[in-house]
Parts: sequence; structure tokens; C-alpha cells
Amino acid sequence: METFTYLKNVVTLKLNIEKCTGCGMCTIVCPHRVFEIANKKANIKDKDFCMECGACANNCPEEAIYVKTGVGCAAGVLAGLIKGTEPTCDCGTEKTTCC
Ligand code: SF4
Ligand code: SF4
Repeated sequence: METFTYLKNVVTLKLNIEKCTGCGMCTIVCPHRVFEIANKKANIKDKDFCMECGACANNCPEEAIYVKTGVGCAAGVLAGLIKGTEPTCDCGTEKTTCC
């Protein structure tokens, strides 16, 4: 998984380091190991590994992470095509169990 990257420099992932408490939840839930903890704060190792699933933002207790979900997620892209909407897979809601 770690060698599987997406388009360069298009990922919407953003980390507000001021809000981060270094709890490590993002390192646990991210399926592509985008985050690491360094100096007691989260650090994005390489944004281009992110598939915009939204799991990190949904599980960060400090709301320190922003990502526009569904853009790079296969389930989200397909759902958008079927519904005729922007890509979205409703991660973190009762409608889905993917993330
Ligand atoms: S889950 Fe949020 S608060 Fe916890 S380490 Fe990650 S960014 Fe920081
Ligand atoms: S959106 Fe998903 S793939 Fe991207 S950093 Fe967050 S948990 Fe990892």
C-alpha cells in the first residue's frame, strides 16, 4: 500500500498543527499510513499517498484535519457517477461502512 500513490499535488488533505495534540488516532485509522507522530505532533509523511477516504478527519478528536472526502475514493467516485453528484461515499455516516 505504501508505494501506491495517486495524482501528484491534487490531494485536499490539510493538517492544522496548532490544534493537534499528538494523540495518534490519525496514524491508526489511515489505511495508507500518511501520518506519523514526530515531536508529539502529527506529521504528513507524503500527501500523495492519501486517497481522501476521510477516516482521519472523521476520527481526529481535535478537528485538526481537513480533507474533501470521496474525491480519490473508488467507492465515492462510483457513487458520484451513479447519483450524478460530486464524488462522495458518505464515510463516517450510517450509510457506509467503508471507512
Ligand atoms: S488524530 Fe488529530 S489530534 Fe490526534 S494526532 Fe492526528 S491530527 Fe493530531
Ligand atoms: S483521508 Fe484517508 S487516506 Fe487520506 S490521510 Fe486521511 S485516512 Fe489517510
